[in-house]
Amino acid sequence: MGRPKLKDPNYLVGKRFGHLTVIERAGNRKSGSPLWKCRCDCGKVKIIQTCNLLNGQSKSCGCARHEKPKSLIGKKFGMLTVLDYSGNNVWKCYCENCGKERDIKNIYLWMRNDRKSCGCYLAEKKKSYDLTGKKAGRYLILKRVSKDRFRNTNWLCRDDETGREVILSRQRIRDLMRMDNENV
Ligand SMILES: [Zn+2]
Ligand SMILES: [Zn+2]
Repeated sequence: MGRPKLKDPNYLVGKRFGHLTVIERAGNRKSGSPLWKCRCDCGKVKIIQTCNLLNGQSKSCGCARHEKPKSLIGKKFGMLTVLDYSGNNVWKCYCENCGKERDIKNIYLWMRNDRKSCGCYLAEKKKSYDLTGKKAGRYLILKRVSKDRFRNTNWLCRDDETGREVILSRQRIRDLMRMDNENV
């Protein structure tokens, strides 16, 4: 059995403890006990002392404390449903919003956000979401028209009942779409 080279001041660098990977030596505590900069699988970096790593007290930055592997399967988080455990604190989830399956980090699932999606929802919100060809109530959205003086985006729509073209505000369209969703 090879004993750890205690004389090497970086003897824990590169080692893994649970979800933590030791990145570098981070000096000593006042008591002389070495400190280590560790990266958690969730991406957080934390300074941890040797004994807590070696005795298994620190296995993550703290995020994994709430983790119950396997038990998340079938649970819903916002628009995500957990299908399977992909390992490394990552869960395979089904995203209701886009219908895709994606790997989602454990810590993201536990963040407070009822609009949680695989990321598609935010992406949609970010770019001025293209509504062309979509339906809102009895209107078919034809194209975007220039912003009005309030800097709102408006859309040229065709009223399916009268066949007439009208301009609707984004807010109005959003309301109509919400009503459509509620009526399903
Ligand atoms: Zn973590
Ligand atoms: Zn999605």
